[in-house]
Amino acid sequence: IPSQSNCSSISKVRVILRVRPFLPHEIAARNGNSTPCVSVLDSEFDSNPEVTVQLKDQETCRNECYKLDSFFGQEDNNVSKIFYREVSSLIPGIFHGCNATVFAYGATCSGKTYTMQVLRSYGSQSTGNSSVGRQRWADSSQGTVSGSSLSPCLNSMRHFLAENQRRKVAHTGLNDVSSRSHGVLAITVSTHCGDGSGAIVTGKLNLIDLAGNEDNRRTCNEGIRLQESAKINQSLFALSNVIYALNNNQPRVPYRESKLTRILQDSLGGTSHALMVACLNPGEYQESLHTVSLAARFT
Ligand code: ADP
Ligand code: MG
Repeated sequence: IPSQSNCSSISKVRVILRVRPFLPHEIAARNGNSTPCVSVLDSEFDSNPEVTVQLKDQETCRNECYKLDSFFGQEDNNVSKIFYREVSSLIPGIFHGCNATVFAYGATCSGKTYTMQVLRSYGSQSTGNSSVGRQRWADSSQGTVSGSSLSPCLNSMRHFLAENQRRKVAHTGLNDVSSRSHGVLAITVSTHCGDGSGAIVTGKLNLIDLAGNEDNRRTCNEGIRLQESAKINQSLFALSNVIYALNNNQPRVPYRESKLTRILQDSLGGTSHALMVACLNPGEYQESLHTVSLAARFT
């Protein structure tokens, strides 16, 4: 019987790193050098669930180390591993009225969109065949549908993917199809308790492809692009402040400081589980350092 009280009280945001592989043209531009700027120093042990990663600038040999919850390197370039180890455990709670959020964070061209799109398709594969009682699927753009299987949800995912293609993209100096907005897919699941009381519990899964955390000294952004970028960085800053407050048990969590954090208020903190996938481009030391140092601030 679904019951909201099944949601364990975990307000910490789990932070994992994902380093995408070099793309063929990047290896060519580096004369075949495919050494990534980030590697793992010690791997996970039961007694020490954190990992230490090292970022190394190949030109200056500068290096820095950080601790994070988990690491998926180039050799782990199979998103099913991320899905089964980090995401699949969040799904059952949605049917018991718990909320969960998975978001991809990182610079432009670090693999955020790739990761979230593949995770979405994994999520739909792993839950498509099961029938979990009666659900009502609310989709702000499609109204509400009822059904006894998850297929309406898959349809709304498909709809989202098509919508995602139309998301505002613009050319920046770093990525031809840089996403200039945050992409938020919120799947709300209302489940009848099945105890004859008619009671319903509602859970929500947010899948978020954040806009890139851009360093405007590198993007050559000007005018409108620069203003957009300042707004993007502002909302990412607000998000990072919320996560910081949650992960450090601060009494006040500044949800109201941006639209993004207001939208996510019921899905970050409290009994909601949240996973941040910090994405890295293996050939970009400076921006990787920026992403990892911020991610490590939360763990
Ligand atoms: P972002 O959304 O962070 O700007 P993208 O997801 O668009 O970055 O990825 C940038 C490029 O890298 C794309 O060409 C994408 O296909 C490729 N890419 C990203 N992650 C992977 C991966 N894990 N394996 C293979 N190619 C990837
Ligand atoms: Mg993107």
